[in-house]
Amino acid sequence: MANLKPISCPLCGAEAQDITVATFNGRTICCGFCGDYDVSGTVFEAGLLDRLDRRRRLDALERAKGSAPSGKRPMITSHDL
Ligand SMILES: [Zn+2]
Repeated sequence: MANLKPISCPLCGAEAQDITVATFNGRTICCGFCGDYDVSGTVFEAGLLDRLDRRRRLDALERAKGSAPSGKRPMITSHDL
């Protein structure tokens, strides 16, 4: 079951929801600005997104979208940063 929790988007700072399922060790975010995306456990736990400015975080999302299979939610991994 998704566990809905209001947060600020770790990419753009807008109001978003954490919809992570318990079986995933990263985070799944639903943001009105960025859309739905996953952040890998490695990126999340190391706080890698916090080290980047907003534009670089959004660039990482664009790269993740580019490598996501069609119709799949993009996942931001350390390769996208
Ligand atoms: Zn966002």
